[in-house]
Order: sequence, then C-alpha cells, then structure tokens
Amino acid sequence: MRLKGKVCIVTGGGSGIGRATCLLFAKEGARVVVADKRQQAAEGVAAEGAAAGATMLPTMMDVSRDDDAQRVVHQTVEAFGRLDVLVNNAGILRDNFLHRMTEEEWDLVVRVHLKGHWATLRHAADHWRARTKAGESVRASVINTASASGTFLPNAGQANYGAAKAGIAALTLVAAAELPRVGARVNAIAPVARTRLTVDVPGIVGEMMRKPEDPSAFDAFDPRHVSPLVGYLATADCPINGKLFAVQGGAITEASGWSLGEAVQTDGDWTVELVAERLGGVAVA
Ligand code: NAD
Repeated sequence: MRLKGKVCIVTGGGSGIGRATCLLFAKEGARVVVADKRQQAAEGVAAEGAAAGATMLPTMMDVSRDDDAQRVVHQTVEAFGRLDVLVNNAGILRDNFLHRMTEEEWDLVVRVHLKGHWATLRHAADHWRARTKAGESVRASVINTASASGTFLPNAGQANYGAAKAGIAALTLVAAAELPRVGARVNAIAPVARTRLTVDVPGIVGEMMRKPEDPSAFDAFDPRHVSPLVGYLATADCPINGKLFAVQGGAITEASGWSLGEAVQTDGDWTVELVAERLGGVAVA
C-alpha cells in the first residue's frame, strides 16, 4: 500500500503499459483516474481495479486537446479533492520514412505525444501552484513517457515519434527544474513492452517480444515489468527528480542524457579550416 489514498491520473490507461500502471496503483491503494480516448477500454480497466476493491474513475479523454486535459484535472479534483500523481502515458505510432511522411502523420504524433504531455502537465502544475499558494506543502509526482526512439536509439521511420519523444525528455528536464517550487518532482521513463503499439511491428522486434511458450519462463516483455518503477517514482518519499530511466523486463537503467564532451579551442578567430582540423584532425585541402 505504498500509494494509499493518493489520487492519480493515468493517461492512456486503457491498455498496455497504462493498464498495468493503473492496476498496480490500484493494488498499492491509490485512487485512479483511467483516462483514455477509447472509453470502453478505460471502463474495462476501471472495472478490473474496482473488482479488486480499488476506487477507480474511468474517463474518456483526448490528450492532444488542452480543454480535455483541463477538464480531466478538474474532474479529478472535483471527485477526490486533489491530484497527487500524473502519469503521462497515452501514445500512438504513425511510422513512415521521411520522404513519405505526410503532414498529417507528423502533426498527429507530435500533437498526441508532445502537446499531450504538456497540456496535462500545465493544468496539474496550476493545481499544485494553487495549493502551494494556499499554504499547503504539496508532495506530487509526474511520470512522463519518453522512448528509446528519439533519445538513445535513432529509429529509422520514426522521425515524428522520435522527435516528439525527445521533446518529452526535454520537457521533463525543464519541468523538473520548474515544478519543485510547487511541490512536484518530474521524471520520465523509456519503456519496452509487448503492447498494442508493438505487437504489429514487423520483423525482429515483434519476434523478440513474443510471449515465451514455456509458462514458467520469465516473460521479459510483459508490460507489468514497467509499472513498479512508475509506482516508485510516484511515491511521496521518492527523492528522484529530473531523470530518465530505460525500463524493460528485469532491467532499469538511468540514462545519462545530454552532456558536453571535451571542448576543442582556439585562442584567436575560428576559420573553417581550423574547425576541420580541430574536430576531424584533417586539414581542408
Ligand atoms: P498501447 O497502445 O497499449 O497504449 C496506449 C494507450 O493510449 C491506448 O489505450 C490508447 O487508446 C491511448 N491513446 C492513444 N491516443 C490517445 C489520445 N489522443 N488520448 C488519450 N488516449 C490515447 O501502447 P503502450 O505500448 O502501452 O504505450 C504506452 C506509452 O509507452 C506510449 O506513450 C508509448 O509511446 C510508450 N512506449 C511504449 C513502448 C513499448 O515498447 N510498448 C516503447 C517506448 C515507448
């Protein structure tokens, strides 16, 4: 019961990693708002949690809409009095190589992922700011969902998705610098799991993620392996802020993020030739 009484929103809670997170949060005593674009999926997960004795609230939501994000934060506060944990998880894929990618594919993926994270985050931040201003000592947590794609794995065919996910990693760092003053920590995960999103990926990925035939074998790609990290980051006592963790099966790895290497320098003006020499070690002919 590490999340007893906590009020949590999980976007995209209707399936995959979001569903596993909702059910783990329910088991840990949280009150869970299951927000998903597919109402039936949200209701199904809420019913599963409620059957196990948890307080669940399903709601239909399109994360790419700012007014929907505001409504869901308000609906949560109206139902439970406050919000403690925001899990930004909803997502889609529209893969295509750059020269074939349509404007619609680009816009949709960036809107759902990047704007979808920003919109809920800003309304949650506003809620925590109001409580802090009223004198309350808020202890809130945000867990964003980035991806290896766009951060440490440049996946061909995912310019829209990778750029949005890298944007989410950057948004996480900025929010982690901004929100401690209203009592919120902000972290991100880059998960890998067998879900609706990955089940149809052709070739090696789909094959690699297949459920083992031996029921006693460790099923490394079951989405339930992702949720305990999300659960820990959500707990009020967790001190971690501004980190990105890769999580897959039995492995959790902290990403080292953007960092600067050793500088090459000049005492005078740079020339193209000097830059080439210092960077590449080869003089321009
Ligand atoms: P999933 O398809 O099982 O779950 C995504 C959920 O988001 C679905 O229930 C879907 O209905 C919902 N959704 C989609 N668009 C929405 C919108 N506009 N508004 C509200 N809900 C919406 O896939 P998943 O793998 O569980 O994905 C969860 C998150 O994890 C995504 O952000 C995804 O990019 C990320 N991720 C997954 C993997 C992986 O290996 N599965 C890898 C890296 C990142």
